[in-house]
Amino acid sequence: MLLFTPGPTPVPERVRIAMSAPTIHHRTAEFKKIFQEARELLIELMKMEEAVMFASTGTGAMEATVLNFCKKKMLVVNAGKFGERFSEIGRAFGKEVVELKYDWDQPAKVTDVEEALKKDPQIDSFFIQICESSGGLRHPVEEISERIKALNPSVAVVADGITAVGVEEIDTSNLDALIAGSQKALMLPPGLSMVGLSSYGIERVGEGRGFYFNLAKELKKQKEGTTAFTAATTLIIGLKEILEILIKDVGLDELFDKTDRRATATRVSLEAIGLQLFPKKPANAMTAIYDEEAEKIRKILKEKYNVYVAGGQEKLKGKLLRINHMGLIDVDQACWVVNAIELALEDLGRREYNGLAVKVFNQLYFEE
Ligand SMILES: *Cc1c(COP(=O)(O)O)cnc(C)c1O
Repeated sequence: MLLFTPGPTPVPERVRIAMSAPTIHHRTAEFKKIFQEARELLIELMKMEEAVMFASTGTGAMEATVLNFCKKKMLVVNAGKFGERFSEIGRAFGKEVVELKYDWDQPAKVTDVEEALKKDPQIDSFFIQICESSGGLRHPVEEISERIKALNPSVAVVADGITAVGVEEIDTSNLDALIAGSQKALMLPPGLSMVGLSSYGIERVGEGRGFYFNLAKELKKQKEGTTAFTAATTLIIGLKEILEILIKDVGLDELFDKTDRRATATRVSLEAIGLQLFPKKPANAMTAIYDEEAEKIRKILKEKYNVYVAGGQEKLKGKLLRINHMGLIDVDQACWVVNAIELALEDLGRREYNGLAVKVFNQLYFEE
């Protein structure tokens, strides 16, 4: 079965082998060396001043940023499940939450953020997804963060890049915190989350807040090459291995270029066979297709053609196909996916199969 969901993504063999070694103790010189190497590569990937890892899923890192960056009032962009989650975390901690709510296919507008900040000077922090995974939507985070810093540099800007870090080049110059997670673009099993910090971010965190998710306490330890609590040793060994592959062997430019080619070729080839893209501004992490028969298509893909793609959540349940582009995906597999979708459309009696999806995919992917 080809796993083509936007998280979890398949774990490469070299990484699985690295993680299969016997457990080593987390307070040893051997592990410290691995930890420090992983940390340096992570900072390089994130293009931030510092980075902190937690043994948690991505939501833990989201919680860490809400807790440590919002003093009183936060502004949240909610265009899907993950944006909504920032608000829910804020409310759980008794923060005042101002929400900019959008349909799940609509990117946030710079002017809306600007207006909200001008209207309410008590807002001290801003939270957004780079790619909102519910609808495969790319928010204009670079433009928004630039505008926020021009208006009021003391507003902390937190970007959830769980489906963007390792997918595409991100301009991090106006971000104070950048969140990543193991099971999406980093092709690891779930259970490790990361927060990149800018120098203002570090300053803002100060002494930190909270207990387990205290960014200052963790940062201090991690700069010394260890963790405040037991490190997720196996996952960190995997992280070091995958970052060596992505940064040193493949190269980030090559990774981003190939992901972009696969994403573009998938989008255009599926549109060529009559399917409809869901988001107004698609992210490269995944292609989201809106279709009334999405569930039927997914079932045929899984049972007949051995391809497993994700569906929609909540209000889009049964209406979306979400096809992953994150990670090191073989082009022949990506091409098989669009072909299988074209075959499924014939099975449903919607369109006679003529190999158009594969043709368009290859023309675009291999274009100079
Ligand atoms: C997957 C994801 C998360 C985190 O989810 P977990 O299940 O806690 O790992 C957060 N934000 C985005 C945009 C995601 O895609």
